[in-house]
Amino acid sequence: MDMLMTMVLRPCPCCRIPTSWEGNAFKPFCSERCRTQDLGAWSSESYRIPEKPQEEDGEGWTGEGEGD
Ligand SMILES: [Zn+2]
Repeated sequence: MDMLMTMVLRPCPCCRIPTSWEGNAFKPFCSERCRTQDLGAWSSESYRIPEKPQEEDGEGWTGEGEGD
């Protein structure tokens, strides 16, 4: 089972196709095309890093006036 290390497949971040990194000059992408697309997406800001969801009102209840 020592062949496992040479057959590592990882999903291409762009198209999700399982891709071997072995001898892959475009890793983690499957091909130059995907790598170019990904870089292009970043440069054009198509990739939007999801911001942290805003805390909804209600969680901010301080309990003020909670006298007995
Ligand atoms: Zn790909």
